[in-house]
Amino acid sequence: MKYKKLPRHPLGFFPTPIVEAKRLSAHLNGPRIFIKRDDHTGLAFGGNKTRKLEYLIGDALLHGCDTVITGGAAQSNHCRQTAAAAVASGLKCHLVLGGKAPKTPSGNLLLDYLFGAEIHWTGILRKGEKIPEISQDLMTQGKKPYIVPYGGSNIIGAAAFVEATREVCIQLENLEESVSHIVFPSSSGGTQAGLIVGKRICDQDFNLIGIDIDKDHSGDSSYQEHIFKLAKATAEALEVEIDIQLSDINIRSEYVGGGYGVVGEAERYAIKIVAETEGILLDPVYTGRAMAGLIDIIKSGEVSRNDTVLFWHTGGTPALFAYAQDLI
Ligand SMILES: *Cc1c(COP(=O)(O)O)cnc(C)c1O
Repeated sequence: MKYKKLPRHPLGFFPTPIVEAKRLSAHLNGPRIFIKRDDHTGLAFGGNKTRKLEYLIGDALLHGCDTVITGGAAQSNHCRQTAAAAVASGLKCHLVLGGKAPKTPSGNLLLDYLFGAEIHWTGILRKGEKIPEISQDLMTQGKKPYIVPYGGSNIIGAAAFVEATREVCIQLENLEESVSHIVFPSSSGGTQAGLIVGKRICDQDFNLIGIDIDKDHSGDSSYQEHIFKLAKATAEALEVEIDIQLSDINIRSEYVGGGYGVVGEAERYAIKIVAETEGILLDPVYTGRAMAGLIDIIKSGEVSRNDTVLFWHTGGTPALFAYAQDLI
């Protein structure tokens, strides 16, 4: 299906590899498992936000902006990649982070400092709630700020995952493989919305299973609705006519455990098992939880040995170093 292409500013290395995790499959006595290595997107230790930022920074440059501003948790992968993307594009970066400045920054936050990002601490607000205010201040100082939304999840960010879906479809075709399920962590919705639209554009019939990692929006229907609306708006912006239903958004909220960024036994086990069987590092907040979800889905029989799963490794590994006490 033909669709409109948005301006893209190269920042990463694409396509990212797909590897088969044979020892993990055997260990779980489960289906074949492929892993899409978006932990290797190339920008500052990688991650799925690099994809979105190629389009978001593309848009910022198109609008002649000189500063980008975004927000998230102190260990936000999105903020770390935005800080690096800004440097690589000659832009200044302001980050609006939840919590307060620690004595010694570690993990992603350490990298934010190395990239020279200006950090604004906002206490309990960890979703960039103060961005409009700070953006206003920057404008009065004569700057031209570009607001990158929380998680990079707007139409432009989601469009990057339409491209990512196409990338995977081409790779699988070249490998002469097909998958029945794609499993990935879901948090601000851009990844999932893009995958849904991409699946339809590429005319695929795999099942998309988003593992919700944030308790804030588990249990109510608002997150599912948010993804639904974003997917529809993205399809419209790309000028494709596809019929998307609310029921197309498969989001699992039963794995949120102790909430955002709280590592429990299930995440610890998932991270260890993948490290020990494949030599691949997952992260404590997103992919560790998504893999814990996949392991449970395999155990429950929902995915059988005759299926083939693509697990989307969306990155996040620098946070491992900030979670040492929870992982051993
Ligand atoms: C942001 C992020 C996600 C979630 O992607 P959304 O598009 O926000 O749903 C998953 N994994 C990692 C490592 C991330 O940083």
